[in-house]
Amino acid sequence: MAQVLPFIYLLASAGFILAMKWMNHPSTARRGVIIGEIGMLLAVIGTLLRSDVHNFTWILVGLAIGSAIGAPLAYLMPMTAVPQLTALSHAFGALASALIGTAEYYRETPHGFTMGALSAETLLGFLTATASVIAFGKLQEILPTRPITYAGQNIVSFIVLGGAVVLGVSLTAGISAPWMFPLFIAFSLLFGIMLVTPIGGADMPTVIALLNSSAGVAAAAMGFVLDNRLLIVAGALNGTAGLLLSIIMCKAMNRSFVNVLFGAFGQVQASVAAQAAQRPVRSATPEEAAAILDSSSSVIIIPGYGMAVAQAQHKIREMYDLLTRRGVNVRFAIHPVAGRMPGHMNVLLAEADIPYDKLLEMDEINGEFPMTDVALVVGANDVVNPLARSDKDSPIAGMPILDADRARTVMVIKRGMSPGFAGIDNELYYMDKTLMLFGDAKGFVASIVKELGSNH
Ligand code: NDP
Repeated sequence: MAQVLPFIYLLASAGFILAMKWMNHPSTARRGVIIGEIGMLLAVIGTLLRSDVHNFTWILVGLAIGSAIGAPLAYLMPMTAVPQLTALSHAFGALASALIGTAEYYRETPHGFTMGALSAETLLGFLTATASVIAFGKLQEILPTRPITYAGQNIVSFIVLGGAVVLGVSLTAGISAPWMFPLFIAFSLLFGIMLVTPIGGADMPTVIALLNSSAGVAAAAMGFVLDNRLLIVAGALNGTAGLLLSIIMCKAMNRSFVNVLFGAFGQVQASVAAQAAQRPVRSATPEEAAAILDSSSSVIIIPGYGMAVAQAQHKIREMYDLLTRRGVNVRFAIHPVAGRMPGHMNVLLAEADIPYDKLLEMDEINGEFPMTDVALVVGANDVVNPLARSDKDSPIAGMPILDADRARTVMVIKRGMSPGFAGIDNELYYMDKTLMLFGDAKGFVASIVKELGSNH
């Protein structure tokens, strides 16, 4: 078996690397998920076949408990709650690394390099676990989504982190006392809570990507402790992928890491919806909207979180078919942070079989808006808010947006005047060229489809 194991691990690593590559594009993403799953299955089988695994009882108990929690979670959580689910799975993964680190510490009392890796694994594992639970709570709105801050917060956080690092370094250097490791764990857990509590809900996606990265680094460190190369490869892949994703997301929101982590961003403004309700807007019926779409030659559809909530993608596909058949050039503009998770819009539109070449990223499509007859916004809000460009005090200041306001006519499907995730009013709705189409996205698009179908 010992000869076959490296080969199985090599295949598993290749599976993980291909998964990363293929998940980069919607057309190959499914293949990427499957190869990743095969890689993970190989990794688990290979590990179970190791000669140092003697007793399967506890493994089976763990498998049963894990499956009993994981399977219902995966099936029951709606697509819109995937960010929370991701946060929870990071919490579990990181906790597992940290507990293994703790067990190894008390079992082996390692020294030198191994103890250094064990300290990194335990520190990152515990802090990622508590930070992810807080991120879950904020996204699920069990905890307040606004940043919770107090004077001197960053200093206190640094002292706690510093305490943990000093203890980790001391243990690595061979200075140890029975109280040190428990205190090291306590500081690590506490720092995780302190890290995420002051961060606002709007920055949670970036934070989750960062926690993904730290969970990966913890797993790689665990690979050094357990002398397991596959864990080192998988952890390093996870760590870099998470870091790259958070850099991409920071760019998409025009924020810096330091600002995300220490800026206490995302204070939701109170009673925005009430204020918005006072300002006049122009609205239109599905019949009027269908007539405008029918008489246009180019349309850009901008999907957002509301499309996901309403599950309107299949009706949008029908509308797309009807319009393209009439010779209208219909394309989709995808903002990198539209919805509630990276790639959210791509996943939904791919599910509805919208051709991939019609999904255009922000940089590709923004120049097209001034030449476009209709920008049809479906349940998007923050990602088309011109305030990001003009108001430097706005919570979304500097976030690159889709230039829907530059199209000749703008139509916005949403249920009322409620703000989006950032909690701010949207100037786009009050422009002379904007028509508000009030209703649930799926229902409204269905009415447009009916109208277009009957005019045929
Ligand atoms: P927003 O959250 O800004 O706005 C969504 C809009 O959809 C709301 O204004 C709401 O208005 C409307 N809506 C809700 N339900 C329905 C429905 N059933 N039918 C029609 N409309 C509906 O969404 P965006 O996609 O524009 O922006 C995403 C925001 O989320 C950004 O601020 C981003 O930073 C943040 N974010 C992004 C993540 C990501 O990774 N993509 C993760 C977490 C946060 P009304 O209630 O009036 O209908």
